[in-house]
Amino acid sequence: MAARILDGTKLASEIRTEVAAQVKTLALSGVRPGLAVVLVGHSPASEVYVRGKVKSSQEVGLYSEQHTPADTVTTEELLELIADLNRRDEVDGILVQLPLPEHVDAKRVLLAVDPAKDVDGFHPVNVGYLSTQRPGLVPCTPAGVMEILRRSGIPVAGQEAVVIGRSDIVGKPVAMLLLNQNATVTVCHSKTRDLPEVCRRADILVAAIGRAGMVTREFVKPGATVIDVGINKITDRKEFDRVFAGNKKREETFAAKGSTLVGDVHPEVAEVAGAITPVPGGVGPLTIAMLMSNTVKAAMMRRGLYR
Ligand code: NAD
Repeated sequence: MAARILDGTKLASEIRTEVAAQVKTLALSGVRPGLAVVLVGHSPASEVYVRGKVKSSQEVGLYSEQHTPADTVTTEELLELIADLNRRDEVDGILVQLPLPEHVDAKRVLLAVDPAKDVDGFHPVNVGYLSTQRPGLVPCTPAGVMEILRRSGIPVAGQEAVVIGRSDIVGKPVAMLLLNQNATVTVCHSKTRDLPEVCRRADILVAAIGRAGMVTREFVKPGATVIDVGINKITDRKEFDRVFAGNKKREETFAAKGSTLVGDVHPEVAEVAGAITPVPGGVGPLTIAMLMSNTVKAAMMRRGLYR
């Protein structure tokens, strides 16, 4: 039987509607949550992401502002900008779009963000809150993964969860969130032995690797829930055939654009899994929705309104 498709676009829209309602309620007490986005230089990919974040902020009624220093900006200048945003009360969330230029000390810049305004959840203080189960700001993509599971009625407590990938921004926080919700969690990475065998234990398999279609049928226990975090661009014909041979719609996109997007999970997995997130339209849309949600959460926490 074909897997149930977990529609991230629909879930993200539900979350945005809820956030917009919270924004309206806060307006009654004179509070308008605000998000400041810092985008250094002119990377086309980063510009697309930032445009999406600003547009979504406007749609849910947040105050938003953009800072766009040139890519010649120094670490010191960025630290000054962050200090200013930390000070300003109308700014509840500060997001520094990564990657930063090589000459900038990215770790120092991220460390300078006030943890109370760290809507990306990357500050060590928020990482510590997450690992000790205290209220704090949780990274958006991992939080989105948990929302997909919760809103799709997929139980987590007591389940075997396997996460492939151990990055600070996806793999580790997803593993921590699953553990906090009482899953039995295994974290795999590039040095893991017998990866398909370990993954076949999973009731919930999360792929956050960055390798197109790497997770094939042999990684998946029949009926398992598969969450595909990966976003990979295929431009090579041979690679395209390995993942999408015979898929007419993808053929058309590939012919027109010379590329197509694929997750870390091979499409054949949909024949084995019980439920699966598509790419695009799975985890991706949740990431921005959770950023909106985190900005409102930050605004409420800073004012003692968050329960
Ligand atoms: P990363 O490169 O920082 O980490 C990748 C992880 O995968 C590493 O821990 C590594 O050990 C592991 N890995 C690499 N090759 C492996 C292999 N052959 N076998 C087992 N493990 C292997 O990447 P990241 O930032 O965590 O992102 C992962 C993927 O998620 C990327 O495709 C990225 O584009 C995507 N992503 C999507 C969103 C979203 O909004 N949907 C957000 C962030 C990242």
